This record gives sequence, structure tokens and C-alpha cells, in this order.
Amino acid sequence: QAKLENRGKALVFSENLRTQADARINMLSGLRSAFTSQRLFLAYQPQVTMSDGRLVGLEALLRWRDAHGSFIPPDQFIPLAEKSGLINPIGDWVLRVACDQLRAFLDAGHHQTRMAVNVSHVQFREPGFVETVAEVLSETGVPAKYLEIELTESVAVENTDMIVSRLQDLRSLGVSIALDDFGTGYSSLSVLKDLPLDKLKIDRSFIRDLHSHETATNVADLIVAFGKKMGLELIAEGVETPDQIEILRSMGCEVAQGFYYSRPLEAAQLFKWLEARQEDAT
Ligand code: C2E
Ligand code: MG
Ligand code: MG
Ligand code: MG
Repeated sequence: QAKLENRGKALVFSENLRTQADARINMLSGLRSAFTSQRLFLAYQPQVTMSDGRLVGLEALLRWRDAHGSFIPPDQFIPLAEKSGLINPIGDWVLRVACDQLRAFLDAGHHQTRMAVNVSHVQFREPGFVETVAEVLSETGVPAKYLEIELTESVAVENTDMIVSRLQDLRSLGVSIALDDFGTGYSSLSVLKDLPLDKLKIDRSFIRDLHSHETATNVADLIVAFGKKMGLELIAEGVETPDQIEILRSMGCEVAQGFYYSRPLEAAQLFKWLEARQEDAT
């Protein structure tokens, strides 16, 4: 009897696994067709100085609305795209669209604006990645100093020498490098200290708990101190409340990105957001 019951459980278990695998395969083929039929698009989230709300940058974020109009979050589909290699063409496309859009923002007179583009560790390791970046910059006519590449610590877990030299190549183009979700990865400080970086992005999890959690506050404080010691720029991710802003500013962090200032916006909305603020300023 017990045996039979267990067999039943094993069956349910493997059915579940199969359903999950099917769901992943479906999502991947949906993503592939969304990509080829140009149904992916980018949203842009403002990055601002907390003292006076000045726009200093934008982060490009990939968006996928499926055939039924529902939104699928990148945290779900990016890992699949990475496993399948689809992230490479998609990532190239993101870079190109973001730079095209940046060109339009610059042409409209928003000269303080840098564009940050998320790059998967998979794409970063592809041979020819640096050449692709250089090509996109020259084709879109965007000066390299306006482009920032965001990488997570996962880029640094193996083959550090190759990563370091690739980062140096990007920086000699004039592109800057930000380390995303800082504080959540597995890389050690001894590896991190060798990476040529320009900026640390303090992960949203620490910002979220700034008021309620002493540990999160201590970690955020440490990251700010570490960044400053290393001569890096700092930005806080996921800022939602005035309290968080006050705490961050008291720590010496000047720049933020989060729903408090703006959600990620499509280009047309962003132009309106920019114009409304210019009117406020005059
Ligand atoms: P990320 O690069 O850390 O991006 C920041 C995420 O935080 C975005 O989620 C953004 O919408 C969200 N966010 C910003 N401010 C707030 C806030 O105040 N509160 C809350 N709750 N969330 C906030 P999103 O767009 O869902 O992207 C999730 C992740 O997917 C990104 O995290 C990034 O790792 C990845 N991703 C997005 N676009 C791309 C892309 O084009 N290429 C690659 N390789 N990865 C991407
Ligand atoms: Mg990012
Ligand atoms: Mg992040
Ligand atoms: Mg993230």
C-alpha cells in the first residue's frame, strides 16, 4: 500500500516537472516569435540626483507583452534567453535600440543624460562583444561617454583575466561600467577590487529595508563607504519613499533610481516627463 502511494507521488512529481519544462519551452518559443515579429520594446527609467531631482541618466529595460497583451517580467524570460543563447541577438538589439533612442534624446537637447544598458554575462563573454559595442556607437552616432554597460557580479565568477581585459577594452572606447545589484552576488571583494568599474548600483533589497532593518541599513552604509574608498560612483536602486532618500543622502549617496521619481517609461512618455520638468524649472 505504502509503495503504491509513493509511486503515485513520484508520478505527480514528474508530471509537475514535465509541466514546468513544457511551460519553459512554450515561453521560449513565445519569446523567439515576439523577438522576430518585433513585439519586444524598451522602457527607460530616469536616474536623478536626490538633492535637486536633476536627470543624470536612463536605464533601458526590456519589455515583452505577449499576444494576449499580458506583460511577462524580464526576471522570468531573461534566464531562458540566456540558457538558449537567444540572449545574444536580443542583447545586440537592445543595445542598438537604446543607443538610437539616446541619440534622439541628445538631439532633443537632453545632454546630461547617459544611457545604461543591461548586458547578460552570456553576451558579455561572446567573442566580438566589444566590437559590437563600438559598431553600434558609430552607427548610431552616440559618443561613447554617454553609454554605460550594466553587469552583475555573475560576470566575475570565472575567467577573471578575460573579463578584466574586456572591461578595459570597453573603457578605452570611453564606455563606462556599472555593477548592478551590488551586494547580492557571490563574488568576493578580492575579485571585485581587480575589476575596472565606474559605478556601483546598491541593490533594491537593501534600499527596501532601509527603515525597518538594521542589517540592511548597515550593508547600504558599508557599500557607500566601500564605493567611495574605491573612487566609484554610487546609485541606489528601487527608491520609493522620502525616508529612504533622507537616509541615503545622510550616508553620502547622491543619485537614485526608483518609483518615487518615475517608473520605467516608454520613449513617448519619457519625452513628456522631460518636457514637464523643463517647464517646472523655468
Ligand atoms: P535591474 O537591471 O536591476 O533593473 C531594475 C529593476 O528594478 C527593473 O525591473 C525596474 O523596473 C525595477 N525597479 C526600479 N525601481 C523600482 C522601485 O522603486 N520599486 C520596485 N519594486 N522595482 C523597481 P525589471 O524591468 O522587471 O527588470 C528586472 C531585471 O531584468 C533587471 O534588473 C535586469 O537584471 C533584467 N533586465 C531587464 N532588461 C534587460 C535587458 O535588456 N538585458 C538583460 N540582459 N537583462 C535585462
Ligand atoms: Mg540594471
Ligand atoms: Mg539592479
Ligand atoms: Mg536585477
